[in-house]
Amino acid sequence: MAGKKKETTLQVSATNQEQWEEILATKGLTVVDVYQRWCGPCRAVISLLRKINNELGDDLLHFATAEADSIDALEKYRGKCEPTFLFYGGGELVAAVQGANAPLLKKMIVDQLAEEKLVLEHDGERKVVVDHKLVDDEKIEGEEDHHHSEDGESIIVPASKSYTVAVIKPDAVAHGKANEIIMKIQDAGFEILARDERTLTEAQAREFYQYKGTEDCFEDLVQFMSSGPSHILVLSKLEDSSNVVKAWLHFIGPANIDEAKRQKPESLRAQYGTRTLFNAVHGSEDADQAGRELAFFFPDFSTAPGTAQDAEEERVERTLALIRPLVARENREEILTHINKSGFQLSLQREVMLTEEQAREFYNHRVEEDYFPALLQSMTRGPVLALALTREDAVQHWKNMLGPSDLRRAKEEDPECLRARFSMEGDPVNQLHGSQSTEEASREISFFFPVQQTLAVIKPDAVDHHKDKILQEIRDRGFSVRRLEEKLLSREMAKGFYKEHRKQPFFSQLVEFMCSGPSVMMILEKENAVEEWRAAMGPTDPDRAKAEFPDSLRARLAPDVLRNSVHGSSSQKRAQEEIQFIFGEQTGITDTSAKNTNEATLDKQKQQYEGDTHESNLHGPPK
Ligand code: ATP
Ligand code: MG
Repeated sequence: MAGKKKETTLQVSATNQEQWEEILATKGLTVVDVYQRWCGPCRAVISLLRKINNELGDDLLHFATAEADSIDALEKYRGKCEPTFLFYGGGELVAAVQGANAPLLKKMIVDQLAEEKLVLEHDGERKVVVDHKLVDDEKIEGEEDHHHSEDGESIIVPASKSYTVAVIKPDAVAHGKANEIIMKIQDAGFEILARDERTLTEAQAREFYQYKGTEDCFEDLVQFMSSGPSHILVLSKLEDSSNVVKAWLHFIGPANIDEAKRQKPESLRAQYGTRTLFNAVHGSEDADQAGRELAFFFPDFSTAPGTAQDAEEERVERTLALIRPLVARENREEILTHINKSGFQLSLQREVMLTEEQAREFYNHRVEEDYFPALLQSMTRGPVLALALTREDAVQHWKNMLGPSDLRRAKEEDPECLRARFSMEGDPVNQLHGSQSTEEASREISFFFPVQQTLAVIKPDAVDHHKDKILQEIRDRGFSVRRLEEKLLSREMAKGFYKEHRKQPFFSQLVEFMCSGPSVMMILEKENAVEEWRAAMGPTDPDRAKAEFPDSLRARLAPDVLRNSVHGSSSQKRAQEEIQFIFGEQTGITDTSAKNTNEATLDKQKQQYEGDTHESNLHGPPK
């Protein structure tokens, strides 16, 4: 699974104008990796930059990443596939390097740092450059351009990785399917090492397909391949890159579309191809061909010596924290503030009312302890707040913050620790839990946050203008898209889909609206997916969404309560029914964990506990 790791502290990250300005205001030289949202910062250079940083050990040298899509000043860099490194001193651009060219980057950092110091120490004049990307494509006269390598970009990948070359052909690109296909590629566990969008000339198409030169269809193929833009991808595999060539061929399916549809309906060609010439995607046949095709599309592609994964980055991990009912009710905000300040990212959260049976299952290794009955009681007297916390060394760090598990010892030995500070009179057990080890953490996290599937729909009002944005957010929030289909619902389907609302005054409007144009139907998968997707959508009524969860999708995109842009299943049970209804398949996941046996009862218990004094909407949209 494409688990996102936290950025290391080497690079400051800018994803909005304000952060960008902060970077420009930093004293010294800042090396900025300008990246596209779809691919993220250039990971291949991180260890190189760290090494240079360690070697130079200079307080005036800084590193940053900046997302071109969300910073207006970087508009000209949007949609560029090659990594771009911009060098800023005193808020001004002093150099630019295209491509992750290690020797050039290093030289440039050393040179520019020396220059910047001259400027700062001796009041020298800063040599400002103008990058063409920032000033349209016109050539600026008299401006030095020696920083740009003439022959385009170069890319560095670890030599240890095998790769294949994939092409999304002009038919699929012309039909607007490129983004969708790229999402599916990533969800299938392929890693995109490089991407370029370009239209092949006839001569290039001829050269690329020269091995098919004797086939009847050759001329048609050449015409087709040069008829419009293609996306060229260099792919590796997150797990076991050694079989990437085969895995990709398997994923795209047979070249003959009829055969693909019959034998491999899930394959890309079955889904996106229209006839054998227009079969949507290409893949290298074997490792040798992958090498030749790579050289053809990316002549400067180079392999770097196996970049040992950065140690600090490796240690980013998760732990499970539980805040037991009494303290969850009294001190929740205070504790969340402590967590936040300690550098944890709150990656999942959920408030859950455990039955005794579930608490017993969670603590089954503690059954023999004499405090077990008290623990059970403490865990089931109200909703527990469960959190998955992420940072470097999370398990140990959270344990350190908690302090000794025995309350008396905690108070005597470490009165500042969280367990000592947030204890409850009349409750002999500590009020906070943390996993003991990384293995225990993953078991405990999947207990509270099992992987689920949910049905998500981009409703007709949002398909035309917001589809790409919503798909991107789905990915950014860590969902995997297991299926995706654009469908026009019939009236019968729409009625059936919303049958629970048939008595509502808005029912006929709702049915009408849902049939007014195609919807994008998706199966999303993630830990705790049902709640996570509901939180991402925000409240049903966009006015309420704007007031209470301004970051949510409905707050930002929906015109009114009827046309509220997105749908998400309301419970696990509904998710299964809706997936069955739309796609005619069972969810690929059977959740056997005890806590989901009876959601309705849990909700009822929760309401009773909260009475009318405490509205619990813990699960606001994650920021
Ligand atoms: P959905 O089921 O679409 O995910 P939801 O669960 O947030 O949304 P429901 O209460 O199930 O909301 O309502 C189903 C849909 O009916 C809403 O998404 C909205 O499109 C429509 N709807 C709900 N309330 C109203 C209303 N008062 N007026 C018009 N349409 C409404
Ligand atoms: Mg609903």
